Amino acid sequence: KKSSLSEVKVAVLGAPAVGKSALTVRFLTKRYIGEYDHQAENRYKYEVLVDGEPVLFEILDTCPKSEDDTPACESLHWADGFLLVYSITDRRSFNYVRRVKQLLPGDTPLALVGNKGDMVHLRQVSTEEGEILAKDYDCWFSELTAAEQVSQVAEAFHELCREVLNARRM
Ligand code: GDP
Ligand code: MG
Repeated sequence: KKSSLSEVKVAVLGAPAVGKSALTVRFLTKRYIGEYDHQAENRYKYEVLVDGEPVLFEILDTCPKSEDDTPACESLHWADGFLLVYSITDRRSFNYVRRVKQLLPGDTPLALVGNKGDMVHLRQVSTEEGEILAKDYDCWFSELTAAEQVSQVAEAFHELCREVLNARRM
């Protein structure tokens, strides 16, 4: 049986400089470029197999201008799922995630990632804190490194996709 293409809209949310663009570009291109446009919000379409099924991702790489800037309401209602990103080296970015979470529609699937896992010497947020928050949100969680890992970055997007597709089947 030939399965039809599922469309999954993902908004990548998080404080400035946590690595939202690095993660997004890593997923889309398998590459790490290191420096990205810090001004622009970017939107991408990317077709890929998830568990053998074709999925068309639409990804909105949001771009808050400051720690106090939260994403536009329309992005929040546009998305089928949210990738919440903080940096393990930045306590304020962890707090940003908690603030943004309060703005999200309650029934929309989430995944939580702690980026910059390579920078353990600058760690400000423990792994356990991430795990506890994810438990509270009832969502998937991983620490990862956009700078070094391809497969774990893809896994985060795939896991969110699975959540979205499961929610749709119910
Ligand atoms: P955004 O503002 O959330 O989109 O963040 P960017 O993707 O522009 O990344 C901000 C900065 O963090 C850039 O200098 C990236 O090179 C750097 N960066 C992103 N991901 C990682 C990572 O996993 N490890 C390290 N060490 N640096 C990262
Ligand atoms: Mg960016």
